[in-house]
Amino acid sequence: MANNDVMIETRELTKIYGAQRAVDRISFEIRRGEVVGFLGPNGAGKSTTMKILTCFISPTEGTAKVGGWDVFDDPLAVRSLIGYLPQRASLYPEMGVVEYLEFAAELRAIASDKRRAKIKEVVEICGLKDVLAKTINELSYGYRQRVGLAQALIHDPPILILDEPTADLDPNESAEVISYIKEIGRTRTIMLSTHDLAEVKEACQRVLIVNRGKIVADGAPDELATKSGSVRYVVALDASESEAGAAKRNAATSQEVIDAVKGVVSGSSVKVLPNDDRATVLEVVAKGSNDHRREFFRLAVEKKWDLVELRRETVQLEEVFRQLTVGDGAPRRNAAKKTEGDVKEQASDV
Ligand code: ADP
Repeated sequence: MANNDVMIETRELTKIYGAQRAVDRISFEIRRGEVVGFLGPNGAGKSTTMKILTCFISPTEGTAKVGGWDVFDDPLAVRSLIGYLPQRASLYPEMGVVEYLEFAAELRAIASDKRRAKIKEVVEICGLKDVLAKTINELSYGYRQRVGLAQALIHDPPILILDEPTADLDPNESAEVISYIKEIGRTRTIMLSTHDLAEVKEACQRVLIVNRGKIVADGAPDELATKSGSVRYVVALDASESEAGAAKRNAATSQEVIDAVKGVVSGSSVKVLPNDDRATVLEVVAKGSNDHRREFFRLAVEKKWDLVELRRETVQLEEVFRQLTVGDGAPRRNAAKKTEGDVKEQASDV
């Protein structure tokens, strides 16, 4: 296979549960050597897509191929090319680390005379030397995931599918696991699902953002931020000292501020941010790279409002993620889990 071979390919991939389209006509390609972040809020369809790719469930419609093999027609060929690690590796707590890896090697039908060498290799790759004498229940969650990673690599697969492998880890453990994944990604194709944008920026050259079963963005993390071409302003205005403010009640002046700010940049989206009693604090996201600060300043002068704060920031990946995935969420099965989206939803739409 050539260097830029397509390793994972989906075409109009769809999974329907009852009335819900968990995965909705997703099409993408991942080429050899790419480390791709599969990013989306809970319930977006990440796990479902990955379970189809790893032959745990079958699609309702569309196709998925791994290394050219169809997941439905050739599951054995697909499984031999893939190493899989879910959020919680299915480990046997009473087993010793080496015993477990031997078991994993046996499951992968690695010849008994080759197992020792294979185990040595994955122990090296996943930094497990110090815990070889331990049983799994003696390990921290970080080490457990590294044992899970070793299990996923035992048959030396060219492709790794990692489904939120750091979701249960503390920040230090996550950073460590990500650094191993990054290293492993030098010689393998990896699809890594996560909510963590910092992880994506750290480990992935490319990101696929999914929302409500659909791909809503695809590109290099920096590229997506630049392409989105948006600028974010935080504008805080205090209208209470103005003539209008003195005459009216606070809520009314606040609405007047919102309406006026909305009129400054056509086509911008405006949200109310948490504010103190006096100032109305607004977030304005405007398309294009023009600088509109003077216009906000002029508005304040014209209305005789105090401009308490005016900030301009180029949009980051976090913002792109938020713009693409927040605000249209119907209740989802996993809604209790905390997501990037949940945190951001504190801001209310105007
Ligand atoms: P993610 O991994 O992005 O959090 P999932 O792929 O787990 O999302 O789920 C996508 C949606 O599909 C869920 O919100 C849920 O409503 C639905 N879903 C997933 N698995 C099942 C299932 N086994 N039965 C019914 N609905 C499911």
